Amino acid sequence: MDLDDRTLQGARAAAAATRLADQDVIAVILVWVDTSGIARVKAVPLARLEHAATWGVGVPPGLDAFLLDDSVVTGRYAGGAPVGDLRLHPDLDRLVPLAALPGWALAPADRYAQDGAVHPLDSRSLLRREMARLSSQGWSARAAFEMEWAVSKKGWGDDFTPACNGPAYGMTRVSELSDYLRDVLLALEGSGVAVEQIHPEYAPGQYELTVAAEDPLGAADTAVLVRETVRATSLRHGLVASFSPKTELASLGNGGHVHLSLWRRDTDTNAMAGGDGPSGMTPSGEAFAAGILRHLPALLAIGAPSMASYLRLVPSGRAGAYACWGPENREAALRFITGAHGEQHRAANLEVKCFDPSANPYLALAALLAAGRAGLDTRATLPAPVTTDPAALPTQERDHAGITPLPTTLSESVEAFEADPVLRQALGDAVIDTVSVVRRGEIALLDDATPEQITATTRWRH
Ligand code: GLU
Ligand code: MG
Repeated sequence: MDLDDRTLQGARAAAAATRLADQDVIAVILVWVDTSGIARVKAVPLARLEHAATWGVGVPPGLDAFLLDDSVVTGRYAGGAPVGDLRLHPDLDRLVPLAALPGWALAPADRYAQDGAVHPLDSRSLLRREMARLSSQGWSARAAFEMEWAVSKKGWGDDFTPACNGPAYGMTRVSELSDYLRDVLLALEGSGVAVEQIHPEYAPGQYELTVAAEDPLGAADTAVLVRETVRATSLRHGLVASFSPKTELASLGNGGHVHLSLWRRDTDTNAMAGGDGPSGMTPSGEAFAAGILRHLPALLAIGAPSMASYLRLVPSGRAGAYACWGPENREAALRFITGAHGEQHRAANLEVKCFDPSANPYLALAALLAAGRAGLDTRATLPAPVTTDPAALPTQERDHAGITPLPTTLSESVEAFEADPVLRQALGDAVIDTVSVVRRGEIALLDDATPEQITATTRWRH
């Protein structure tokens, strides 16, 4: 960031502050997501927004090495002595009033060193870099996160007590919490989020909300905004929302499924449809999907990054515990969605089911784009589609079809991640080392914990 950029950002922030003052905003929250998938913030009064956009707000670099319980580990690139400072800059293109918290606005933020260089562990910048790489090869991507959460009557520290009792997909659950759900929708509309659907999900107290696809950076920003809007609205209704992969041991978990499609930039056409490849994919669409499928075990260190992730990621848990793909198969880690006949050219997309909401959405998309790009580079092809629940197949048949289980522990995922040359080349040593050291920190923290204890420790952190 040079002086011209700073001057421009300052002028834009001053104009934005005038607009926000008319909407009764008095302070702006600058938010970034750490390596453990937790949204961390600093806030400034509206009058300081111009300064924050020009010079940034100081934040400690050590937060990259924080675990979910706020303890810190030491890596080669993060953690250790609490020395140094980074500058947090609001992205004014994504600055919105946070309608769920009257008086507040929210801006996703990028982290720079004091000399203006991009911080190598800044996950928004990493995602921008991956988008630029894809773009230079003539492609763009569209993405959206599905948000699942479970809402409890009691507060933090208490067990989970579902705030509603109706059945999965049941109308009862809408009626029980209709004011709450209305306020979630109103708040999202007030913050400019294009909601597509909302429904009661399978687990007790669980709901799901889907939003329109955007460019990947926008999709990750929206995931953060939706989550914090749901959390804030829940609290205003005396409820507590959990986005943990596992809210209750005996129930299905919260997924953070990622929808992703690849688009040709010159023709603005969707490579996931209109081709003569499997399920109508073009050869490039297939190669992109195959790249992701091939790297799934390593990708889990980013997409299923917590100990609780592996309590969710079990066969027949609708989470996609097997490394396979299949059209509309909810038990395949990679579900292919064709869309309704007549709408495929817009709607066809990949759904990465095995990812959950404890993932940093920026890192998740950066890693998925890198894996997809590797597929494009090598013209990778997909194996045969799987059209049944792989867990229901006899082991021999599953082995014969080459359907392998995904890692069943965080340790296995981290090993695959560290050994993956494609992800290392795309993300860089600093990210590989820091992600791995943070994951190992969480493994050590919860090594002796029972599944119940892991669930309880994680429940209110995400
Ligand atoms: N809650 C399930 C998960 O953990 C997903 C259920 C569904 O959307 O089919 O991924
Ligand atoms: Mg769902």
